[in-house]
Amino acid sequence: MDCRIESAETHRNKCAACFRQFNKLEHLVEHMRISYHSVHEPTCGICRKHCRSFESLREHLIGPLPKQECRDIFSYRGCKFCLKVFESPNSRRIHQEKCQLSGTNAGIIGRFSNLGLRDNLAIGGGARGPQVVALACKMVGGGSDGSLDLCARVCLIDEHENIIFHSYVKPPIPVANYRYETTGITPEYLRDAMPMRHVQRRIHDFLCNGEPMWTIRARGGRARILVGHGLDHDLESLQIEYRAEKIRDTAKYPPLMKTSKLSNSLKYLTQAYLGYDIQTGIQDPYEDCIATMRLYMRMRSQAHRVQEYPLASDPQNRNNFASWRQSEIERMSPEQMLEISRSDYYCWCLDSLY
Ligand SMILES: [Zn+2]
Ligand SMILES: [Zn+2]
Ligand SMILES: [Zn+2]
Ligand SMILES: [Zn+2]
Repeated sequence: MDCRIESAETHRNKCAACFRQFNKLEHLVEHMRISYHSVHEPTCGICRKHCRSFESLREHLIGPLPKQECRDIFSYRGCKFCLKVFESPNSRRIHQEKCQLSGTNAGIIGRFSNLGLRDNLAIGGGARGPQVVALACKMVGGGSDGSLDLCARVCLIDEHENIIFHSYVKPPIPVANYRYETTGITPEYLRDAMPMRHVQRRIHDFLCNGEPMWTIRARGGRARILVGHGLDHDLESLQIEYRAEKIRDTAKYPPLMKTSKLSNSLKYLTQAYLGYDIQTGIQDPYEDCIATMRLYMRMRSQAHRVQEYPLASDPQNRNNFASWRQSEIERMSPEQMLEISRSDYYCWCLDSLY
């Protein structure tokens, strides 16, 4: 076989998003059907390769197995926190001073909040209050061996990092282990604290903000967007049920995950993407709230191309390839295939559009 023809043939079967090469066109079509490439994927600012997560983009740009050409350019004008590429090392330096954040002084806030409860959980009101809130808990141990997580401290903040609610919580069952080294909690703090049932009802009502649970949708409405890390666990410990459509979880958001099944820790994400350390010594849920809210805001502010029907689940996308005939798709170029492909997860940039 003529090798020029072969290389042209292989090039034709190259995915326009992740650049994988396929021997046969039908293999590329099959790949496109299951990969859900979209404008929302983390993309290399140099070669335009789409990656399934920021972790794989980081690997592509920094290592341990970087693409050499991209690594060379990135190392001298790329930001190692948000992974964007700039015009010059100087514009990178100016950007990075703002991109790298510093931690909140949790020690001072912690001592301050020990003095008393902060409680601004207001429903409705003229300005309708914050649209996005972050929640975090700290757990003590219950049960016979102290391994059952009981929420003993909870914090809620708004998108401007103001505290909405910060309180100790009296668990409904006895505490077996206060986990003092990380929580800093002693029995006195919980003795007269707000009972868990009470906290549960107040937070739930604040989140729904007067909207009945069954009318809550991903966008619009009165109910608030809830940001957090591993929210299933926090909500379970507070026995709060909330609609998945309004939950933005940094532990479950595909671009922030380690692999398709494994989450990154909040400590790692804060260090890698915001540039500072959290959870050293005694931990305050306020610090976790700030970190998750900042990660959410950074994800939400990404400038992705606006599409009328951005998700594979939007009926207008004809179910992302499923209803196209094989022969119709095989006539398309790899770029055209990418053009009709849509994301299978809800990108947080969509929150900024409504
Ligand atoms: Zn691909
Ligand atoms: Zn997006
Ligand atoms: Zn690249
Ligand atoms: Zn940056």
